[in-house]
Amino acid sequence: MIGSIKGLGVTLKTALRKPVTAQYPAPDKRLEIDERYMGFPALLWDDTVAEPYCTGCMVCIRECPTQCMSAKMKDNPLHADGKSRRRKIVEEFEINLGRCIVCGICVDVCNFDAIEMSHEHELGKYARNGNRVDLPELLDMGKQFQQETGWKPTQAKNIGRVEK
Ligand code: SF4
Ligand code: SF4
Repeated sequence: MIGSIKGLGVTLKTALRKPVTAQYPAPDKRLEIDERYMGFPALLWDDTVAEPYCTGCMVCIRECPTQCMSAKMKDNPLHADGKSRRRKIVEEFEINLGRCIVCGICVDVCNFDAIEMSHEHELGKYARNGNRVDLPELLDMGKQFQQETGWKPTQAKNIGRVEK
């Protein structure tokens, strides 16, 4: 008898509590993403010189376990003009997010603070290879992440501005 009453109590308590799930994808019912959430990788933007942090050094590309990244580097024209400390800069960058396993290795191996695991996670597409994102898209994802989190580089040496 006591057991049944206890069981009924649990049922009533559960029936009356607020829902812990969200009505996806209703925009006003989304759950807030935690700051440390790891979504897809994105490239970061250096406002001090108006260029990406990425030099196109290829380290992340070599270390990516699914080989879903590619990049091309070029001589940095802003460096030639004495405006940036980066001698080389990324020219092209692509990640096939359909193959990315969100492991974060690319972020760990980058020595230039150029890439972060953003909060982007809603990239469903109908085409098998429809999730290839290029440099401008990766930078847009990064800018949004930087704005949301107030991101700062971990090493001051990575800031491109030339101190006069
Ligand atoms: S993101 Fe970092 S490791 Fe990858 S190419 Fe750019 S600078 Fe190199
Ligand atoms: S998160 Fe992992 S799988 Fe995705 S691009 Fe970076 S290294 Fe590759």
